[in-house]
Parts: sequence; C-alpha cells; structure tokens
Amino acid sequence: MNKNQFYIVITPMKNEDKKIKAEQDWKVKKFKAECRRLGLKITTQRIAIYTALASAKDHPTADLLHRRLRKEYPKISLDTVNRTLLTLADIGLALVVEGTGQPRRFDADIDTHQHFICVKCKKIFDFKHKPFENIRIPKKIERKFKVIRTTVYMEGFCDACLKKTDR
Ligand SMILES: [Zn+2]
Ligand SMILES: [Zn+2]
Repeated sequence: MNKNQFYIVITPMKNEDKKIKAEQDWKVKKFKAECRRLGLKITTQRIAIYTALASAKDHPTADLLHRRLRKEYPKISLDTVNRTLLTLADIGLALVVEGTGQPRRFDADIDTHQHFICVKCKKIFDFKHKPFENIRIPKKIERKFKVIRTTVYMEGFCDACLKKTDR
C-alpha cells in the first residue's frame, strides 16, 4: 500500500486568487457604500449583478451577464440586469464602453484605461497609454460646453483574427 494515499492535500489559495478576491470584496463594499449614500436599495440581485460585472474581464453585454447570472439566480430578469447596469453607469461605478453601439458593453473597471475593439470578433482589450489621458480640449469646445469625459479608443483587427484571415 502506498503511504502517500493517506495524505490529504490542501491546496492553499494562490496569492493571485487572494488578491482578486480582496479586490472584489473591496469593490462590493464600495458599491454598497455608494448605494447607501445615494439612497439606492441594496438588493441581493443588485449585488449579484455588480459582482458579476466586476469579475468579468470581457466587457459583457447585459444579455451575456444575464445568462451567467441565471445559473445562480434563476429568477433574475434581463430587464433587471439591464436597468441595474445603466444605474451603475449613472452613479459612476461602471462604464458603457465607448464605440460599441448596441448592444451596449459594460465595464466595472473605472480606473482610466483605453480600449482596443476588434471589429471582427468584438473582443475588447484593455490597455493603458498615458498620452491618451492628457488630451487637450479645444478652446472653442471648452468655452461652449462642459466636458465630463474625453476618451480614446481604437478599432481594428485583433491578432487572433488577423491570423485567421492570413494577412
Ligand atoms: Zn478579433
Ligand atoms: Zn475596459
């Protein structure tokens, strides 16, 4: 008999996972605090929607998030997901990804970053490029309007799609 079979292997949570978990917890905490501050009801569904968005790396649509959430929350409606995502965007805890049109794509990463959007597979890639964060607003615009967000995004073909088309 092999002695080894009596060992119970406990795999500790990897540091990377711990970091992600801590970040998530912090985000949800912030979300709850923001809801309280704005007098918004904190419901299980809202927390679930925010958590699902915050852990998604693919800038999902409401529809995609709804399909993911339904596994755990069979009663959640697409309408609730949609409205909650728009509320999150309203209160500044999520962004509607620029340039994606309909269906909207959402992002819970509100730290400044830029997007590359593949026009073929529709994947959205995050990147950071400092010069894109310091765009000067033209005087004639500044005089006339109040700018609340300037952003640069790029469209094109991602590396995987380029390979497929053999270019
Ligand atoms: Zn692509
Ligand atoms: Zn993003």
